[in-house]
Order: sequence, then C-alpha cells, then structure tokens
Amino acid sequence: MDDEWICGRLGEDEPWALGAVNPPVFENSLFTFRTAQELGEAIRSEDERYVYWRGTNPTVDLAQRKLAALERGERAKCFGSGMGAISATISSLVKAGDHVLVLGAVYGPTTQFLRYLEKFGVTHTHVNDLAECDSAIRASTRLLYFESPSYMAYAVVDIAEVTAWARERGLVSVMDNTWSTPIFQKPLTMGVDLVVHSLSKYIGGHSDLVGGVVVGPSRLIRPLALTEYQLYGAAMSPHDAAKVIKGLRTLPVRMAAHQERGLAVAEFLTGHPAVRAVNHPGLPSHPGHDLAKRQMAGFSSLFSLVLDTESRQEVGLFLDKLRHFRIGVSWGGFESLVNAPALSTEESVRATMGIPVGLVRLSVGLEPADTLIKDLGLALEGVGRLA
Ligand code: PLP
Repeated sequence: MDDEWICGRLGEDEPWALGAVNPPVFENSLFTFRTAQELGEAIRSEDERYVYWRGTNPTVDLAQRKLAALERGERAKCFGSGMGAISATISSLVKAGDHVLVLGAVYGPTTQFLRYLEKFGVTHTHVNDLAECDSAIRASTRLLYFESPSYMAYAVVDIAEVTAWARERGLVSVMDNTWSTPIFQKPLTMGVDLVVHSLSKYIGGHSDLVGGVVVGPSRLIRPLALTEYQLYGAAMSPHDAAKVIKGLRTLPVRMAAHQERGLAVAEFLTGHPAVRAVNHPGLPSHPGHDLAKRQMAGFSSLFSLVLDTESRQEVGLFLDKLRHFRIGVSWGGFESLVNAPALSTEESVRATMGIPVGLVRLSVGLEPADTLIKDLGLALEGVGRLA
C-alpha cells in the first residue's frame, strides 16, 4: 500500500459509504441495539464496537485506519487534541513511583504534563543524549519520550539507536512525529513503540481542527482505548475526523510544497547578517542533516532562526514588522506563521530547553516563497541595533 493511496482511498469503498465521494459523517452520539444482550456484548468490547461517541465512532475509525496504515502501525486511536493523545499515552504507561526519561527538547505542555504527574508520584528527568540517558536511568524508569526533530531547536535524534537502547533496558519508547508527518518519517519502522501526533498541524492542514492520535501495536493501544480514552474524555468528534480525512487527501502534495518553500526561506536566511543561526535539518549545514537524510524521506517547513539580539523588545519589533507572516501559535496550515518563545513560552520551560532569547519560529505556509522572503528581508533590516 503506498501512502498516496492510503491518504486518498483506504477504507472509503466500504458498502456503508454507498459510493459517496466523501465518506459520510456519523453524526450520532450513541448507537442502538436490537436486544439487551447485544448491548451488553458491545459494552464489553467497547474499543471495537460502536456504543457511544466518547469511545468509538465509524468516521473516527476511518481516520484511525488511515493513520495506522500511514505509520505502518497495527492500530491508531484519535483524540480531541494532540495533548489529549500525549497525556493519555503517558498515563497509560506509568504508575506511582515510575520514572520517565525525556530526551532532547519536547513540546512545552508535554513537559508541563510530566511536571503535573509529580503529584501522583511519577518523576522525570530531561537528558540531552544517550550518555546522559545512561547516567539518568533508574530501576523505576519505564518510558523514554522524545521528538525528532526536537522542539524549537530541530535537532535530529538517531531513532534506531535510541530505541535499541531503550528496548535493551526494557523501556517503552514514545515519539512525537508531528513535525515530519508519516509522509516524511515512520518511527515505528525504526523501533519506536508508540508514535503520537498533533493532528492540528500539517495532517489537518487548514488550521480548522484540533486533534491528536497515538499509533502502535494493539497490545499497547487497546488498554489505552478502553481506559484513558474513555475516562479522560478527550474524544475526537466525527466532524473533526472528517476534516482529518480531507486533510489526508492532500497531505502528500502539501508536504512536497511545504518542503520546497520552507527550504527556500531557510536558505535565504542562512548567512544573513542579522541572523545568528538557522535551525532547519534540511540544510546541509545543519549538524543532523546526514542522519536526517537517512531516516527521513523529506523535511517539513517548521524551523527556527536566531536573531542577532539578546533583547526581547527587538524580537517583538521584528515580529511586528512582518506583514505577510501572521503572529500566532500553532503551525502546519496554509498560512505562514511566526512565533517567538521569549515572548510566548513560560520562562522556566524556555530555560529548561535552552532556547535563546532571539529564537524565532517560522511555519512556512503555502504562499509563494518570494513573497515570504521579501517580507523577512524587510523585517530583518535593522535587527541587532538594540542588542
Ligand atoms: N506536539 C507538538 C510538537 C506540538 O507542537 C503540539 C502543539 O503545538 C502538540 C504536540 C500538541 O497538540 P495539540 O495542540 O493538538 O494539543
């Protein structure tokens, strides 16, 4: 099965779709049964049978089948947000007294969630590489969590090496693959146990939905679907699942265009006198470029640059001068966006991740690269004067 077919067609020719060109949306909160016995049986296997929307829904199932196939996983479970998927996944794998290793920089609220878990007796340690993993691992360590490329810095992790290390020590590995999408990277094929995504980014693709997914073997997804999915209640709605299904149809084409435009913008910024660094793993100058080329099929268009300044005020002025890039959180949609952690991220989280004050994140959208380059060129004029 190739990815384009999975995105465009998988599961869409079932009899219940009646040949509809867009899969029908099952907009119902519950399903009814002919007998009380049938209802009882369905409730006993509620992760697979349709009973109530907070557990299962056929439109959500279709999105899940496609996402599982794209990631080459056995099973997927969609959530009402990426954080819904991340918090349920971590919760399903740990208990009081357990310890989590966090490798490299990860999405801020993931770190905040791990801090929140401390009140239930689950601790975590942030580490930067495998040598630090060796020192930080404890008898109680259960889980290794990471992103590749990493959050904001876009450092590349050797996925096969890290997951082999985790497996030898009996740890479960969880990786956030939102940056690459399954079009550009398939971590399960490199030894990761569970992959999580925010579907709110490239996969949704139009900044009109918030969703998440976890993909992996049934033995890990089933308990999570029956427990954390049902009890935390971060269920995906069938309407959002329908948007995911539509987003997937154009995902391969959009990712190719994002890659091309993102790289054009990153190349323009490289060597600009007002820019100290450009963190884009697709650039040959990036320290993880060769590794990235080995384990990824392409590069998305979310990356960071470091302005030549130590002044928050100047970072703010740079953002305000941009006319085409819109200022906002999130990424992966049609529109180009800009954000700066020094102005928007909790200070302690920024410090934990070692993010410099001048770091600016760009989500390069699908507008012409020339327009974006011109916009950045004008806004960069004069940066460095307030340093
Ligand atoms: N993972 C990454 C890398 C993210 O950037 C985000 C959101 O920005 C999330 C997870 C969380 O996803 P959501 O906003 O859908 O909860």
